[in-house]
Amino acid sequence: MVIVMKESATEQHIQQATQKLESMGFSVSRIVGVNHSILGAVGDKRGVDPRELEILEGVERVLVITEPYKLASRAVKPQGSRLRIGAMDIGGDDVVLMAGPCAVEGEAEIHEVAQVVARSGALVLRGGAFKPRTSPYSFQGLGKQGLQYLRSAADEHGLLVATEVMDVTQVELVARYADILQIGARNMQNYNLLKEVGKTRRGVMLKRGFAATLEEWLMSAEYVMSEGNDQVILCERGIRSFGDHFRFLLDVSSVPALKERSHLPVIVDPSHAAGVRSKVPALARAGLAVGADGLIIEIHPHPERAVSDGPQALLPDQFFILVEELQRIARAMGKRFADNALRTANGQAT
Ligand code: PEP
Ligand code: MN
Repeated sequence: MVIVMKESATEQHIQQATQKLESMGFSVSRIVGVNHSILGAVGDKRGVDPRELEILEGVERVLVITEPYKLASRAVKPQGSRLRIGAMDIGGDDVVLMAGPCAVEGEAEIHEVAQVVARSGALVLRGGAFKPRTSPYSFQGLGKQGLQYLRSAADEHGLLVATEVMDVTQVELVARYADILQIGARNMQNYNLLKEVGKTRRGVMLKRGFAATLEEWLMSAEYVMSEGNDQVILCERGIRSFGDHFRFLLDVSSVPALKERSHLPVIVDPSHAAGVRSKVPALARAGLAVGADGLIIEIHPHPERAVSDGPQALLPDQFFILVEELQRIARAMGKRFADNALRTANGQAT
């Protein structure tokens, strides 16, 4: 069950409702939203009369949710979640763009990319400082040094930072530098990691595992949310399939299906699905057309020198052309292409 508290509910009302639920045998987790607090109650709801809870002071609605995910369910917020992370507003009418290299490769390199990202109007600089590589002999990332380079490059251009955290022991460190903690496809079901990022107050971008169903994916989102963090963004990045004409099959149909089942914002990563840059623009356009709230795209000014995922990185000029196309798609869909308000306000446009 999910109990949505009124905007006017006081701390005492929330405590009373929590105690009532606990006395009925539920374990309760609490989400503090922008306007409402929400209590997720997990337990045996047979024999429970929701009216007993509805009459409590400060309670707005009681929802009996049959899906195994509760806090992530659309029923909690039929209008959808709008998350504010720094200057970014995602889940409403804005289309949000995140871009950058696969990995942070050095100070000069990330500053060069940040300039391109800022010029495009994108809000978020991406780049891995901890890299999950298929081979232990491949470049593993610059670690803390990479986070420092990434943060300073983003700050110089008024951008937010999205970067991957691979392990529970890194969460505290990465959260110091990042606005959005990326959980990679390979870690989608690393439940300890999900719980740990759930304890932070950073945005969490949860990528879909290669072979995950939507229910498994939403249950992973539930892990993060049940720790009190509702700033979760889902990222479709392609799944395993039998074709050999792509790296991963971009499951664009997951976007409208997620929108039906969950209130969480959804973004699409066309780069890891495409595997080669020639296919990235088409998949990016498809992602937006199918209703994604944003896109995360790998770009690199010198992809031949990239330490990882060079073949799928768009060159800056290709990226600028794509952004113009995406702006037209956003307009056609009645959405706004979010520009970097902070940067414009600071007059730092490059
Ligand atoms: C990445 O974003 O660079 C990455 C490793 O993504 P994924 O976890 O989707 O493979
Ligand atoms: Mn990559």
